[in-house]
Amino acid sequence: MAVYHADALVIRSREFGESDRVLTLFSRELGKLQAVAKGVRKPKSRQRAGVQLFTYGDFLIHRGKTLDTVSQCSPRESFPYLWNDLDRSFAATGIVELLDISTVVAQPNPELFALTLTCLFLLEQFDPSLVLSAYALRLMVLLGYRPHLGECLECGVKVSGDRLFFSPEAGGTLCGQCRETYSGRWIRAGSIAFMRQLIRAEITKLDRLRWNAWMQQEILETLRLYLEYKFERPLKSWRMGSLTRDDVGQYTNGKEGNKFE
Ligand SMILES: [Zn+2]
Repeated sequence: MAVYHADALVIRSREFGESDRVLTLFSRELGKLQAVAKGVRKPKSRQRAGVQLFTYGDFLIHRGKTLDTVSQCSPRESFPYLWNDLDRSFAATGIVELLDISTVVAQPNPELFALTLTCLFLLEQFDPSLVLSAYALRLMVLLGYRPHLGECLECGVKVSGDRLFFSPEAGGTLCGQCRETYSGRWIRAGSIAFMRQLIRAEITKLDRLRWNAWMQQEILETLRLYLEYKFERPLKSWRMGSLTRDDVGQYTNGKEGNKFE
């Protein structure tokens, strides 16, 4: 039976059968994969720690006919700080959920792997919402969905004003003329500029960026709408907790104009 190694992160872990777990791993060389970890829910299992969500480690995996099986895991990092703080937990869950819904199995993306690992480490020190927002934007860039931020994506004119119209459907900001046929939401120009910085800034210096509560709220909501539109799946963890709130009231058709204050 073929055996392979995966240098991977546990991005999902669900109960399976009496005492097993099915893990979704994202690995540096192989991309996303699934494998069963047998017996890990038994109290005496020595592999319990290795199969916990967010764990980064080396996995030895047996290739099976239908499902592969984890035969050994050596954790390198378990990110203990992600478990003792609610905001960090939400951000880390938001990161792995987004990674899961935005990728398909067996498509390696070493840059995305590195970005994910870096962001989980940054959560120890940095503002969790800032890390989550930067992660989401950079993931979109790596997957070829960089949003247009500031110029009209239809006609290319620079869009100005205190607030701009962002359409998840179109993939970015639109001018007054082009937005009429699109749905979307209004967002302050400052938030759009900040999103550009979240993409451009050196990731290890993200903590130098300053934002405030309304920008945070607005950016996280806009990103969630954009991500859910692109991947056609709800981001459950993004809808829960303190990071974002569901605010459908601000989601309008471009024609209706200024519901913004
Ligand atoms: Zn236009």
